[in-house]
Amino acid sequence: MTNLKCSDYGFECDFVASGEPKKAAKQFGQHYESVHGIEYSFEAIEQIILRKS
Ligand SMILES: [Zn+2]
Repeated sequence: MTNLKCSDYGFECDFVASGEPKKAAKQFGQHYESVHGIEYSFEAIEQIILRKS
């Protein structure tokens, strides 16, 4: 189970994506793009997940 907190990446934001790593990564990427206007590649998010686990 993965838990990605937006606040861990320097945003004042309480968004948390959790669940299956791939699902969480997708959620997180969509949040980044739509809320923070940053394009985040799926591969980059996967790297973050791998590093955290
Ligand atoms: Zn956020």
